[in-house]
Parts: sequence; C-alpha cells; structure tokens
Amino acid sequence: MQALKYPFLDLATVNAPYFDEIRAAVERVITSGRYIGGSEISTFEAALALVAGTRFAVGVSNGLDALRLIFRAYIELGRLQPGDGVIVPDNTYIASALAVFDAGLVPVFADVSLETLNLDTAALESIYTPSVKAVLTVHLYGRPCYDDALSDFTKKHNLLLIEDNAQAIGAVAADGRPTGSLGDAAAFSFYPTKNIGALGDAGAVTTSDPELDKTIRALANYGSDVRYHNIYKGYNCRLDPMQAAVLNVKLPYLQQENERRRILASVYNSVIDSKFVRKPMMSVPDNCVWHQYCLLSGHRDRLKDYLYENGVGTDINYPLPVHLQPCYAEFAGLDMPIAAKIAREVLCLPVSACTSPEDAADISKIINAYEP
Ligand SMILES: *Cc1c(COP(=O)(O)O)cnc(C)c1O
Repeated sequence: MQALKYPFLDLATVNAPYFDEIRAAVERVITSGRYIGGSEISTFEAALALVAGTRFAVGVSNGLDALRLIFRAYIELGRLQPGDGVIVPDNTYIASALAVFDAGLVPVFADVSLETLNLDTAALESIYTPSVKAVLTVHLYGRPCYDDALSDFTKKHNLLLIEDNAQAIGAVAADGRPTGSLGDAAAFSFYPTKNIGALGDAGAVTTSDPELDKTIRALANYGSDVRYHNIYKGYNCRLDPMQAAVLNVKLPYLQQENERRRILASVYNSVIDSKFVRKPMMSVPDNCVWHQYCLLSGHRDRLKDYLYENGVGTDINYPLPVHLQPCYAEFAGLDMPIAAKIAREVLCLPVSACTSPEDAADISKIINAYEP
C-alpha cells in the first residue's frame, strides 16, 4: 500500500519524539535486573494516581484485564454477585462487554445519545431493573460520559459506577473532576494507539477505595496476598516494567498530547462545512481529549473511499455495535437504533501526532469538496 499524504496513524512517527528518552528508560530496566515489579511500576502508579485524582493506581497487563479485575474484585468483595446486571453502552469497543461477561455478570446494553455518542444518561431510568447493580460508563472517543443524570441514577439505586477510561486519559468532566476519579473504579488502557500508548500492551486501574486496591493487586498477582499464600484463584495480570518505563517517559507529556488533539479537533470543527457530514458536538470549554474525531455521514463508505483517493487515511470505530457482534448472537434481537446508525455512519479523521493543524485544514477542505 502506498503511503498516504495524510495517514490516519503511524505509531513509529508518534513515538519518534520520545525515542531517546525511551531508549534510556529501557536501558535502565535492563541494567536494573528487576524485570517484574520494581520502581518503574511504583513510579508510574504514583504518577497515574495524580493524573486521575485518585488515592490509588494499579498497573496491570492491559485495558481489558483492568476491567476484568475490577468486576472480579467486586465479586470477591461481595459488592456484586454473579448474574447481576451491568449497564453497558452499545457503542463501545467490545472489551467493555467482554469484561462484564468474563466476571459472570450480565451486560444490559443501553443505546447511546446521538449528541455525545456515549450512554444516553437521560434514558437510564427506562432500562433499569432491580437486577442492575452497576453502570459501566465508557468515555468513548475521549469524551467524558458523566453528568448529574448518571450520578443521580447510580446514587438513587445504590449502583457501582465503573469507568472505562481507555480512551479519555486526562479528560475532565463538567464538574471539574478528571475521568478515572468519577466513579468507584476506572480502567485505563495504554494500548499503542491510545492517547498515551506503550510499546505493547499495558493498562491500569484507578480507585480511591483501599479494599479494592488491595483486592486487585492480589488478583492480578495469582490471588496472592503474601508470597506463596493465595487468598483468591487469581490471574497473572501484572504490568510489565519495560512498558511502565516507557509510560514514565510519555505520561508527563499527556497534557501536551491532548492539547494537540484539541487543536486538530477545533480546526476540523471550524473548517469542515459539508452538508454531507455531521460534526461531533463541541463543548465550551472543550473537555474532550479527542481519542477520535468522528464524523457521521449517510455517505460514509463513499466518503471514506473518496478521502482515501485524495490521500486521507480514516478509520471506522466501530463498524458493528456490540449487540450485533457474532459472539453476542443472543442479543442480536435488541433494538439499538442510535448505536446501529453510528456503526453505519461513523468515520474517524486523523488526530494523531502524524497530523498538523495545516493538514487538518487541508483534510477539511477535501471533505468540503466532496460531491456524491
Ligand atoms: C482499547 C480499549 C479497551 C481495551 O484495552 P486493551 O488495552 O486493548 O485491552 C477497552 N475499552 C475501550 C473503550 C478501549 O478503547
């Protein structure tokens, strides 16, 4: 495939500015002789807890495991029982739902808002049943999904509020609190394409609950509280110190990286002016960290091909809502019109470090010139 003039994402380019620092950090790990646990992990956990505004952060193997550990820990702590319902937005990455299932819980898929593309918080009451015991709010595309309606709903029914913060590290909710601190626990992913990406798999859990912190640390380490003493049938879901070292290099640049994305989003927002697309909602001030900048278009597939022919890489996040995935055939009958529409119409524009504000203006003009 020939290189596009405006690539969607190229991870080598994204990481190039950090190369010297990353090499030094990796060398530090190699010469330390400490390849599991150690100071890179504790340094990273302390820095992430500061970012999230929580008492604790636990480095883990990836974002899916972060979510799995949260649900499993709440079962071990007796806060959830197998079979309990967990509200999950239908427009999300499949990992959100897989984690619920993995813990023996039952996803209650909720349709999303066409404005925010996230959970429709005004409709939560209409899908509530007494078996629902938790809400998994997903800050999809980097947009915080948290408001009074969600908070009142979880309080009224005494539900756990868990955040899937894989796409929104560094974002701030309308009440000024960072994502990762809004509910009882939050999962982070440092998958290479995320706003802060490792050079492989990595993830974390944040919480201010000491019991949850302790339980997750044990579960992620074979269920062991002290060495060779296992209180849970646990897992090996530890964060790799090599990845922690990479993240210790990159995390200090979080605000800078997110600001760059905000600038690209604001260029798209101001220059795109096509009747064939619907632009994402812009809050003032802008509290999204723009993991993706998503257009909706009834011409999505043609527009994608047209952009490609004009040198613009795009992506579709996601082409199928969760309830229509083949692995969830038992949910195929659900009616989720907004999630289904998003899957048909969504088109994500480049927002990575490979794209300059000038590129974003060019891409916008190419979109404006689209004629079916
Ligand atoms: C990436 C992602 C995950 C999973 O994270 P991994 O580190 O890839 O396991 C979970 N939820 C959402 C919304 C994601 O974008």
